[in-house]
Amino acid sequence: MNRHVGHMLVIDDDEVNRDLVSRYLRHDGHQVTTAASGPMALQLLEQQMFDVILLDIIMPEMDGYTVLAQLKADYRLREIPVVVISATADMQSFARCIELGAEDYLPIPFNPTILRARVTSCLSKKRVQDQVQAHVAELSLIQELDRRLNASLDGQRVLQILLDWTLRRSGDQAGMTGVVEQDGVRILSTFGYGTELEKFPGAILPLDWEPIAAAVISRQEQHIPDLRGQGILTDSRSMLVAPINREDRAIGLIILENSQPKAWDDDVRQFIARLCDHAAIALNNAQLYSSLEMANTAKSEFIGFVAHELKTPMTAIQGYTSLLMTQRAGALNERQVGFLETMQLNLKRMTGLISDLSDISRIESGRLTLDFEGIQMAELIDESVRTLRGQFESKRQKLTVKAPPDLPLIWGDHLRLSQVLTNLLSNANKYTPEEGQIVVSAEKLLMPVAGDSEQEMVHVAVKDSGMGIDEKEQPRIFNRFFRASDDEARRQPGTGLGLHITRSLVEVHNGLIWFESIFRQGSTFHFVIPVAVPENLPLLKPGG
Ligand code: ADP
Repeated sequence: MNRHVGHMLVIDDDEVNRDLVSRYLRHDGHQVTTAASGPMALQLLEQQMFDVILLDIIMPEMDGYTVLAQLKADYRLREIPVVVISATADMQSFARCIELGAEDYLPIPFNPTILRARVTSCLSKKRVQDQVQAHVAELSLIQELDRRLNASLDGQRVLQILLDWTLRRSGDQAGMTGVVEQDGVRILSTFGYGTELEKFPGAILPLDWEPIAAAVISRQEQHIPDLRGQGILTDSRSMLVAPINREDRAIGLIILENSQPKAWDDDVRQFIARLCDHAAIALNNAQLYSSLEMANTAKSEFIGFVAHELKTPMTAIQGYTSLLMTQRAGALNERQVGFLETMQLNLKRMTGLISDLSDISRIESGRLTLDFEGIQMAELIDESVRTLRGQFESKRQKLTVKAPPDLPLIWGDHLRLSQVLTNLLSNANKYTPEEGQIVVSAEKLLMPVAGDSEQEMVHVAVKDSGMGIDEKEQPRIFNRFFRASDDEARRQPGTGLGLHITRSLVEVHNGLIWFESIFRQGSTFHFVIPVAVPENLPLLKPGG
């Protein structure tokens, strides 16, 4: 509708006045509805909206003040400007109407030019008000859309949300959204289509199809108001293709179709363009996240592959060095024996690194398999201590074990839990000077879990009187490849992978690991593992 004309409601019990006002208004192109009383007017207002109301004050049954008061008390009607036209020209009545919220007051007889000017001014104000209201409504809608879009890092979900919101506004029969790929537009979400989509193998729309090609290349919306059945929908007559643009290219599309020849009005088209702009950011994030995940998986697989491929030649080298050491392949002089010993030491370090890398690859790609069983922690500690006894003795460290043999069984993988213990004990040994003290203890512990309940755990602590960890570096201790900057710690061989793996292994057992440390005084590493209640402990996948 022309912005200078509107739909007017004239409320007056006097037929002559009503006709006179209506005639002037119609003459200016306005649409006019009349009501002969207040109650009739209020009834009309329940069914339709008006841009301006012209209201008489002196009426039987219900006077103009009451009508005005009721209009202003109604949340839906209060914004409609009211011009009072009244035979009472006294100041009191004028003041009362303005107080009640009237926009203007015209005494009868009125000058038609003044009437015209007041109505036009009311109309402009109303138009601005309507626009502001529409913008506010749209802003809060877009805010809500953003909230939903940002909650998802899944491209398909993002496009589904975009399609739902667009169709809600445009009311079309069918629509679809997809991402632009090298060989076409991959459809990710559809509404209102049936078997029509079967003609697109792999749900890919060809990029050389005219409306799609035009939208992708120009990055502009394409509008075909009369398609004559050449769309995707069997009885398609009109189509709108809007690109989802990110930086300098179209990364996705939304297609709307209708069985009527239809021109989408400007408001709807602008709304769709705005939705697409907002969805573009979310879609881009989702695509970045997915490529990041793919790169991460590829990296884990690569690490796993390299570790696996290195194992075979390493075993061969190890075999031959051991054979040479036996001197069965020929006598060796002292120097040669020394060289071989260095080789063996380095081989041991390389084997450790390879096994750490293959563990990391397994953990990160979710391929770590665990063989759960009930385990007695005291026995596990005893085994690990025996494996490392030589290392403690060579540094003349005092090792004390305090693990009662009757602890409840824990639920875990024997091999992996002994890896946890061995790593913590080996660190205690490495990072504690000669003649230091190491204490390993285990006890039953009740840990608070969700709700008010508690879970029975076995708590293990490995305490050393070693070099400790600088407070500043403590937050990074479980990071991959972390090694303290402390020169003394650096003198010990290591890769910085042990604690990272250890934490993952504890966590896949539904346990927790933490530590406390004072620089140059010592550290204590703690971990807890739930006790065996097989029916309560489904076999969890790593990270699950
Ligand atoms: P690595 O021992 O192979 O370097 P870890 O992941 O096991 O790798 O440990 C990471 C770093 O944490 C070590 O390099 C060391 O600086 C520090 N650290 C670990 N355990 C101790 C400990 N018991 N006392 C002092 N520092 C430790």
